[in-house]
Amino acid sequence: MALFEEELENMATTHRKKKKKKSGFQRFVDNNFGLLMAIMLAVFVLLVILIIHSFKKDNSTDVPSKTNTPAPTQTVAPTKEATPSPTATPEPTETPTPTPSPTPYPYGMCSSVTLDTESDPVDGENWEIDYLMLVNWTHRLKYKGNPENLVRLDDVLTASFYKIEDPHTVAEKSRNFVIETEDDKYDRGNAVALQHLDEMCKAYHEATGYGVKVSQTGAYRNYATQDRFWNNRDKSLDPPRTIPGNASEHRTGLGFDIWVLDNEKYDYKWFQKNCAKYGFVLRYPESKKKITGITGEQWHYRYVGVEAATEMQELGYCLEEYIAYKNGEDLSSLPRY
Ligand SMILES: [Zn+2]
Repeated sequence: MALFEEELENMATTHRKKKKKKSGFQRFVDNNFGLLMAIMLAVFVLLVILIIHSFKKDNSTDVPSKTNTPAPTQTVAPTKEATPSPTATPEPTETPTPTPSPTPYPYGMCSSVTLDTESDPVDGENWEIDYLMLVNWTHRLKYKGNPENLVRLDDVLTASFYKIEDPHTVAEKSRNFVIETEDDKYDRGNAVALQHLDEMCKAYHEATGYGVKVSQTGAYRNYATQDRFWNNRDKSLDPPRTIPGNASEHRTGLGFDIWVLDNEKYDYKWFQKNCAKYGFVLRYPESKKKITGITGEQWHYRYVGVEAATEMQELGYCLEEYIAYKNGEDLSSLPRY
């Protein structure tokens, strides 16, 4: 029993010793609690700083890594940017090049023609001519001045069968015509059209023996002259046989009134049959007056060029119809007069 107690006593001592040891550590902790807490706080703060720092590093490395990984995309982007910039430079070269330069306007239109029927024509000298230009009620001339490339009738129509009538003679005979100024350039026409007119009239003379009268007032007319014709028009005709100064193709120098002489029947069959070979068309056929807006004029021929004249003759189209046809427009939508 004593041995047992002794053993118990030993165990209790050991336990106490252990207890004493533990309490020693605890004491250490108790004594240095502030220091320990300060160390732990420092470690914690340090850890937080490290984490934040590493996170920032991660992010910043993400960017370069992203740059590295999607580098293809990012490299493509600058290359794309680099590519458009050189393309942007040649762009202006492409803009002036737009091949429409051969056809900058639809058929029947050129820089001298406007679809604006309200505004008055403005000053302008030597405005552009297009052999297919449509000048009528809906296609007006922009300028008051003279078209390019006008030459005198007398310089081209030199054969003996011509009778070139001067404005004074016309003024004496025609109630429509009044001479106003010396500047009126009556006796002129487009140089190219006049050459073809000369060839056509010579062929007519050779074929029939008849002469031709070309009035100096029946070729090119300036704005004021044409407007006088319009103001003095025969108002009983519907549609009229003349047209305002900015709507007449006499202003272009491409239209000519040709009078057959010594021809008892006073017919124009030869001209109607052969004019296309010389680039001319009968501009205002009576059968087309609802489309041209002009009552038939069997004497008025218009130069359009051989190719267009031949095609118009084959198709049986007047100029309004032909221009609409060439522009792919619906012929039934043409205005009717
Ligand atoms: Zn005429």
